Amino acid sequence: MPLSILIVGCSIAGPALASFLQLAPFADDGRPRITVVERSPAVRPQGQNVDIRGIGVSLLDRLGIAAAVKASTTGEAGVQWVSADNRVWCEFGSASDSKTQRHNPTSDIEILRGRMAQILYRRSLNITDENAVEYVFDDYLDDIRQDDDKVTVHFSKSGEHRTFDLVVGADGLQSTTRSMAWGTAKEADVVHPLGMYAAFFSMPRDESQGDNAYRRSFHTHGRRMMSIRPDQQNGRSTALLTVMGEGKDGRSSSRFRAAAERGATVASQKDLLQKTFADAGWQQTSRILREMQATDDFYFSMVAQVRMPCWHKGRVVLLGDAAHCASHLSGMGTTLAMLGAYSLAGALAAHPHDVETALTAYEDAVRPHVSKAQKLMTGIMRIFMPETAWGVWLVDTTIRFLVWTRVFVLLMRFKGPDTEPDALPEYGLAQPPKYKE
Ligand SMILES: Cc1cc2nc3c(=O)[nH]c(=O)nc-3n(C[C@H](O)[C@H](O)[C@H](O)COP(=O)(O)OP(=O)(O)OC[C@H]3O[C@@H](n4cnc5c(N)ncnc54)[C@H](O)[C@@H]3O)c2cc1C
Repeated sequence: MPLSILIVGCSIAGPALASFLQLAPFADDGRPRITVVERSPAVRPQGQNVDIRGIGVSLLDRLGIAAAVKASTTGEAGVQWVSADNRVWCEFGSASDSKTQRHNPTSDIEILRGRMAQILYRRSLNITDENAVEYVFDDYLDDIRQDDDKVTVHFSKSGEHRTFDLVVGADGLQSTTRSMAWGTAKEADVVHPLGMYAAFFSMPRDESQGDNAYRRSFHTHGRRMMSIRPDQQNGRSTALLTVMGEGKDGRSSSRFRAAAERGATVASQKDLLQKTFADAGWQQTSRILREMQATDDFYFSMVAQVRMPCWHKGRVVLLGDAAHCASHLSGMGTTLAMLGAYSLAGALAAHPHDVETALTAYEDAVRPHVSKAQKLMTGIMRIFMPETAWGVWLVDTTIRFLVWTRVFVLLMRFKGPDTEPDALPEYGLAQPPKYKE
């Protein structure tokens, strides 16, 4: 009997797995039956630039979507640091070669997360035939029970009970697959907040305000940073607001943490950011906050890592951020999610009748990459986002010095995960057919 697999989440990891499973070398009558459930009514459009680096570039080829992804990049040329009156005081360019350059703030393949998710979703539908994957949007699981042979789940909205051989939680940092299978009490042990919060949204591009091909970043006292980034695809700009969750103005981590919990309203998140950034002092502040209130693609998230000793429990396995979120500071979340999807599909095809062995093999293949990506210089963010105006002056002077002496380039080259493409394991996947939109 072919495996029946339920994937929870349709962002990056979920549809990547649905695609790789169709390319993996299962015997014809052993091709798995794949269902994907996504809580949102459609593929979520929100999010800003995600980077694809090293191994991730090879995985785009394995999926046959390299051309589609490269045609959809945001076109970010690099980073400009700007002063309160919007003048550029420092600039550096993007990675010249995303296969070898490491950990640069702008990588060669930068694509909006929503667009990447859309391409992967379309990919999963046009590999074998349109019906190879059953998508269930606008629903979620509220119960997962398993015995040695099967997992029985309950779909909250439809009220259906269904049984699968394997459930894959690809439902992100705040995975409820994880909390249901491992228990909510374990969440505090595995989710490690990095003390930072970030909001992402798009706004009309306005060249008269200085919007250009660069990410323009402004940092100010109170551990706050604001950026405006280009998106050549939609003729819009994207805004990124970042704040450390505690500060001398009396704000506390718990308020930000509560705003980032599932169930918090977008209005309350916007209100918190409005108050936090109102006196940021950048000439662009009022424009950004006005557009934040108007936008309908606002996304707010805690910056955190997920660290677990084991990613599977019986027949429930975690994939992507749900298993090992490295945080957007790593620039590796999307690459790791795709690597996990590729390795899980390959391992299941190699051991279709021994799920435990397959899940262990998947973990063995991916964990070394995760361990490297999770080694972040998180302390450096506290230095980069100082509390006082004097601290901001000191950091600015240091950045100027590092860029001027090119020490910055050296730091970027030698710090960061090993993303050499030759580390990709071989599972004998089929060549993908041409990608269709
Ligand atoms: C809306 C959004 C915006 C993001 N923006 C950025 C960004 O700007 N920059 C960046 O670096 N990273 C961003 N990320 C994170 C980035 O996508 C991931 O780090 C990475 O690509 C790994 O993806 P993933 O598929 O493992 O998880 P995620 O991308 O987090 O996807 C999880 C998916 O699961 C769905 N889901 C959650 N709970 C359930 C449930 N109970 N049942 C069914 N479905 C569920 C979610 O709606 C989502 O589609 C964003 C994620 C999301 C969801």
